[in-house]
Amino acid sequence: MKNGSTLQLEIEKASTSKIDSVDFDNLVFGNIFTDHMMVCDYKNGEWRNPKVMPYGPLQLEPSARVFHYGQAVFEGMKAFKDDNGEVWLFRPQENFERLNKSSKRLAIPEFPTEVFFEGLEALLNLDREWIKQGFGNSLYIRPFVIATEAGVSASPAKEYKFLIICSPAKSYYSGEVRVVFAEKFSRAANGGVGFAKAAGNYGAQFYPTNLAKEEGFQQIIWTDANTHEYLEEAGTMNIFFRVGDKLLTAPTNDRILDGVTRKSVITLAEENDITVEVRRVSVKEIVDAAKKGDLKEIFGTGTAATINPVKGFGHDGEKFELEDQEDSYAQYFKTKLMEIQYNIAEDKFGWRYKVKK
Ligand SMILES: *Cc1c(COP(=O)(O)O)cnc(C)c1O
Repeated sequence: MKNGSTLQLEIEKASTSKIDSVDFDNLVFGNIFTDHMMVCDYKNGEWRNPKVMPYGPLQLEPSARVFHYGQAVFEGMKAFKDDNGEVWLFRPQENFERLNKSSKRLAIPEFPTEVFFEGLEALLNLDREWIKQGFGNSLYIRPFVIATEAGVSASPAKEYKFLIICSPAKSYYSGEVRVVFAEKFSRAANGGVGFAKAAGNYGAQFYPTNLAKEEGFQQIIWTDANTHEYLEEAGTMNIFFRVGDKLLTAPTNDRILDGVTRKSVITLAEENDITVEVRRVSVKEIVDAAKKGDLKEIFGTGTAATINPVKGFGHDGEKFELEDQEDSYAQYFKTKLMEIQYNIAEDKFGWRYKVKK
């Protein structure tokens, strides 16, 4: 930040709003975007000209690095509106720090904190009407950074664009989710980019996930790339196993995304005297627990779905079904988290962030 004046936020309001054409009762996740977006460019060694402006297409050179080398990172967060019309974010500092952690790994320059929060809040205030009241309604926020410099030399770009776009969301029931434990493909390797929200991590999962779908599974639980013996995460969600009354989840490392929802669930569990073992979880122990009837629940955690219960899993040609639990941990954590997010419950841990009007 060499020159403060180049970081002055500019605001250009959309002349009309699309909001009246949106059917808020029938939203498909991530399909509709609000009237505005935030943009900021990196050029000549500095971030400059942050702007909140009407949402619309970008113009980029076909040779822009992002198209060729996937130099791109993103984040996912949500805004919630309480019954008094106040807008809240959930642990946004965590997302901001993770964005820069991802950027660093992809040789993308880090983004300044103040510009992030000033721009984000201005954007949310302009599109405040898009955040609907009521439990389950939210605004999904997608910050991302792409390498825009023209030229196909395989080296880090000198120019980037930071953007934030927003999409209204409804808490969705995605149908029953069954997962398969990965036996052949891998998502991430030691020393790789698995811990980063790097665009390429997701593109690389589509093909194996399509194969899993043909077998009747909606998602893959990725295992460690070397042995496929340990369960890691679900590719857009971290994963928890309830064996008896204990919760098991893998420790984060350079292959696993350090999810904000995961962290929050661990904290809530400990607060509620639910034992959480953060350690390597083997495929064998989960299959054995399922066979003995000790495996009570599997659920994924992530901003988009909050908590996503898993109904069954497959491994090595065998399929297992889980019974519904009356004292479901998944349901307990989902309600607890949402009550904090919607400003219904006390915020013991200081997780809520009020968006200033
Ligand atoms: C985003 C993401 C998660 C979930 O992270 P949250 O911060 O809880 O939204 C988990 N795994 C992967 C691979 C992700 O990209």
